[in-house]
Amino acid sequence: MIESPLLEKMTGYIGGRWTDNAQGHTFDVYNPATGKVIAQAASMTEDEVKAAVAAGKSALRLTSPYSIETRRKWLEDIRDALKANKEEVGRILCMEHGKPLHEAQGEVDYAAGFFDYCSKHIQALDAHTIPEKPKDCTWTVHYRPIGVAGLITPWNFPIGMIAKKLSAALAAGCPSVIKPASETPLTMIALFSLMDKHTDLPDGMVNLVMGKASVIGKVLCESPDVPMLSFTGSTEVGRKLILDTAEQVKKLALELGGNAPFIVFDDADLDAAADNLIANKFRGGGQTCVCANRIFVHEKVADAFGEKLAERVNKMTVGDGINGDVDLGPLINQAGYDKVKRHVEDALEKGASLVAGKKPEELGDDLFFPPTVVTGVNRDMCCYREETFGPLVPMALFRTEEEVIDAGNDTEFGLASYVFTGDAERAQRVAAGLRFGHCGWNTGTGPTPEAPFGGMKASGIGREGGLEGLFEFVEAQTVPRGF
Ligand code: ADP
Repeated sequence: MIESPLLEKMTGYIGGRWTDNAQGHTFDVYNPATGKVIAQAASMTEDEVKAAVAAGKSALRLTSPYSIETRRKWLEDIRDALKANKEEVGRILCMEHGKPLHEAQGEVDYAAGFFDYCSKHIQALDAHTIPEKPKDCTWTVHYRPIGVAGLITPWNFPIGMIAKKLSAALAAGCPSVIKPASETPLTMIALFSLMDKHTDLPDGMVNLVMGKASVIGKVLCESPDVPMLSFTGSTEVGRKLILDTAEQVKKLALELGGNAPFIVFDDADLDAAADNLIANKFRGGGQTCVCANRIFVHEKVADAFGEKLAERVNKMTVGDGINGDVDLGPLINQAGYDKVKRHVEDALEKGASLVAGKKPEELGDDLFFPPTVVTGVNRDMCCYREETFGPLVPMALFRTEEEVIDAGNDTEFGLASYVFTGDAERAQRVAAGLRFGHCGWNTGTGPTPEAPFGGMKASGIGREGGLEGLFEFVEAQTVPRGF
């Protein structure tokens, strides 16, 4: 069992108090590297989730709002607590997620960055009076907190994803009811433990509910006291949330699935493209929504690029992230592992060739999937159409710019995309043509706290990070004054 000063409780947190399930119901948390249960966390009932919503409602202040200074201090205190406890939070994260320790600790810094950014830009949420005087009135625009927000996060960035949402919610003065993924609740408990000890957030401002998604989701969708949900996860669940909140017309911020194209033109710096692809693709074991999912390489440089990739992939180390400097940890669970295996099998059966990695029949029976490269991929293959969410690099060839823009857009998703070319005008054309919220030019980098990030098409609604993200949890209210 995991031991940590940040995990003294394994329960929810409601109205400023650690709160157990009344019947003592729990769920198991596993370390994917060992397959062992490392904790049992409280599973909340419908009544407990309703109590969390009620606690949030009691912390909402409309007529005497929390001042900008108060909100800034909350954000700074969380930032500082995360930075001071980066190693321990990262260790917990590594043990429940499996990503290498250095990545897990890097994610804590990334998370602190969102609280930092919001604290430095919170002034943008102050009211302002517009310079014109239409209709003989003085018009003031206020940014009101939308209300209690439901924040639902996935397992792939256990601290990064909540940081994006919670920083903006607190900046706006919104209380929240937070539901982490059941695979990774411990990092969230650690965050609540830090907030409990190191901030003076009012009781009910942050509430933690864990357990069955159907129970928690139902209360959050149905409660009239929760006017907004911010969700990161699958498009399937995102669609369900849209349907389940339609009756009440709730505000939704959704960051959903991706199917990122990574395009390498024949004038690209191939070494830089290969290095960036490795860093992008294998982050979090390939289990991020911004991981390159379809690699389009110009036919003239395909062989050379394939060799560079294989050379790098063959040097990668796979193992338990907690034991020093491995490049790749285990996949999160058996279902995740089986999906990657199915994608490799399907590609090979339909004519792709293995450039690096193991044949499916040579794979072991743990959750460590070797980094794998296949070439000769086409749109009939599962790895082209679906998000693999694992360490598979599927390469397809292209000839022209028009053809590859069409191929990149040949998906319902529109989250991240990447283009490598030495031609600046071409890069501008391709970025504009790709219907993706993020388009890296000669970089495989993903989001950052300072810039807005989010999806087009079925990849979601809204933006996190940057000034756009800061405004997600407020509603503009205009107050024209007549005399
Ligand atoms: P993933 O495939 O990454 O696990 P999911 O969309 O299944 O993505 O889950 C993302 C988050 O949404 C998790 O916290 C999960 O428990 C939660 N979730 C799943 N189904 C629902 C639902 N019906 N209502 C609310 N939250 C849900």
